[in-house]
Amino acid sequence: MLDAAPLLRDIFGFDAFRPGQAEIVEAVSAGENVLAIMPTGGGKSLCFQLPALMRDGVTVVISPLIALMRDQVRALQEAGVCAGALTSGNTPEETDAVWAALERGELKLLYMAPERLAAGSAIGMLRRVGVRLIAVDEAHCVSQWGHDFRPDYLRIGALRKALNVPLAAFTATADQETREEIVQKLFDGMVPRSFLHGFDRPNIHLAFAAKDGPRRQILDFAGARRGQSGIVYCGTRAKTETLSRALQDDGHSACHYHGGMEAEDRRIVETRFSREDGLIVVATVAFGMGIDKPDVRWVAHADLPKSIESYYQEIGRAGRDGAPAETLTLFGPEDIRLRRSQIDEGLAPPERRVADHARLNALLGLAESLGCRRKALLGYFGEDAEDCGNCDLCDTPPDVFDATTAVRKALSAILRTEEWFGSGHLIDILLGADTDKIRARGHDRLPTYGVGTEYDKRQWQAVFRQMMGRDLVRPDPDRHGALRMTEAARPILRGEASIELRRDTIRKAVRGPAVRALVSDEDAPLLSALKAKRRALAEAARVPAYVIFTDKTLIEMAESRPATLDDMARIGGVGAKKLDRYGATFLEVITGAAEDLHPVRRKLAGRDAGGVYDRLLAVQADLARGSDGIDKPLSCSASQLARVAQLRPDDAQGLNRLLGDRRAERFGAAFLDVLRSAG
Ligand code: ADP
Ligand code: ZN
Repeated sequence: MLDAAPLLRDIFGFDAFRPGQAEIVEAVSAGENVLAIMPTGGGKSLCFQLPALMRDGVTVVISPLIALMRDQVRALQEAGVCAGALTSGNTPEETDAVWAALERGELKLLYMAPERLAAGSAIGMLRRVGVRLIAVDEAHCVSQWGHDFRPDYLRIGALRKALNVPLAAFTATADQETREEIVQKLFDGMVPRSFLHGFDRPNIHLAFAAKDGPRRQILDFAGARRGQSGIVYCGTRAKTETLSRALQDDGHSACHYHGGMEAEDRRIVETRFSREDGLIVVATVAFGMGIDKPDVRWVAHADLPKSIESYYQEIGRAGRDGAPAETLTLFGPEDIRLRRSQIDEGLAPPERRVADHARLNALLGLAESLGCRRKALLGYFGEDAEDCGNCDLCDTPPDVFDATTAVRKALSAILRTEEWFGSGHLIDILLGADTDKIRARGHDRLPTYGVGTEYDKRQWQAVFRQMMGRDLVRPDPDRHGALRMTEAARPILRGEASIELRRDTIRKAVRGPAVRALVSDEDAPLLSALKAKRRALAEAARVPAYVIFTDKTLIEMAESRPATLDDMARIGGVGAKKLDRYGATFLEVITGAAEDLHPVRRKLAGRDAGGVYDRLLAVQADLARGSDGIDKPLSCSASQLARVAQLRPDDAQGLNRLLGDRRAERFGAAFLDVLRSAG
């Protein structure tokens, strides 16, 4: 079996594993059954791609979306890996090429859509081509309860049994029920080696804001990030269209995406998003799984997501490349009402509904959090954390007050009107307003009438919203959303517990976080030049820009300004193949001139052998006319030198074999000195 480290460096161009990757790669390559739960952007694909290269035979990768498979295959091929996909999107030539590579025994990774497994011949075919490992991406698609359910994923368990090979399943979905379902359906109930890893994505800035003119809030947020790729998630299909138009009117390049669109139109948006720099897609959650774009710089929620897991997954689409990314999630009482009623009116069994309410509560708790958001988020996933310094509440700690009395007054208004009213009317009662509804119902005679004048209407709205967010009151779908008290509120009502709330979150939330530049002013022009070069190359090759290099890689180039190909090879994301293909071109952008390197030497760039080669070359120049400078000129070819540098023979005989007698005689002793001193 091949070693992981050199492959990581040479093929993928990474110096080190990300947290969690090393253990997973080790287990998968050792042939264990594995379930790995990693956050979106955590680097899952490497965890099966690398073992596939380390192991003998073919690894079949089951992945739900054709566009995503094609991108991964292209990126692998770009890195010099023999990979292919059998999908309905193939041209006949592509399919022929995959089969030819399988026949020659060269193909390492075969990507397949789950639908392919439905064909009776699929299992026999996979056995024949020598599949030795099954990798399942987005494994939560076996779950009947998720909105990503793919019936054909249920065939994977049978495939595993028929081929009798190890299976590695990957997902970003963390909840317990989904995990258990994966174990049942894919592993036949045999618990695989499980990895639950690092949910922190420290480069993503977290922020929430109460809705206050939400369209304006989104336009401001996008306006401050002009030219950056972003996603706006909306709760309804109709809203994706109107908001996308509003963004266009505001001068953005934007389009909408939802599940009601023709498959072809959706594909066009997916392709544009992956290829173009700076496109905004305004979408429902249907826009998700296919998004493999590492340089999404921001994600905004125009409406509250449905659970903390969905929130996490959706914001996780930003900044996969590890460079700074920003998020903003808007929420308001109407969102809470909508999400609660969706759960109550859904088809899930009762215990599932209770769990769904709890997950929504977790998200609302995060929205109304009084301390660091990341700490709250990671806490939910069972991880301890310090204050992060990269969320809106770390930026500006919230202004909290003891709201026990206010909450009791509000609860009292709710109970005295027998839980039949929404917050609007309840606030009117508390403020002692003179409305028809109040007079008609005689609510001006309630003891709570007019007891809340120490706050204004907005402040009471913030109190009610936070009470809903803390699940002290819930809208009742059977009473047109009238608020009912929950058990959680009882201790406060009885005076047994106190509660702190944030003062008005609304006024403070108007401006989003200051926009962070990706690089310093000084490096910005170089970064744009590098991006322009990347765009030109990507357009010429008709591939997404990040397939050439990710933002993270370009940022590192702009900041560290490699002066030679050796320096270039040390940049994260520059593997051997990419160095060979693009290194010189990008170096030229940085240094303004081409580095004149022999192609043989270029292949050694970034490796120890590169430095050895240079020293051999220098020694050879000194001895070109022999040690006394009077002999006939003699030199070794570039490839002879490269072989010496790579194979490092440790005696004269070894050198003889590589260089022949004449050259070994002249250079042998000096070369051996170089090799010995190179250790
Ligand atoms: P996901 O877990 O969402 O499938 P990907 O596999 O697409 O994430 O990886 C996200 C990004 O992280 C990609 O751009 C990938 O190149 C990068 N990446 C993965 N592993 C590493 C690593 N060890 N070092 C640096 N970047 C990495
Ligand atoms: Zn924080």
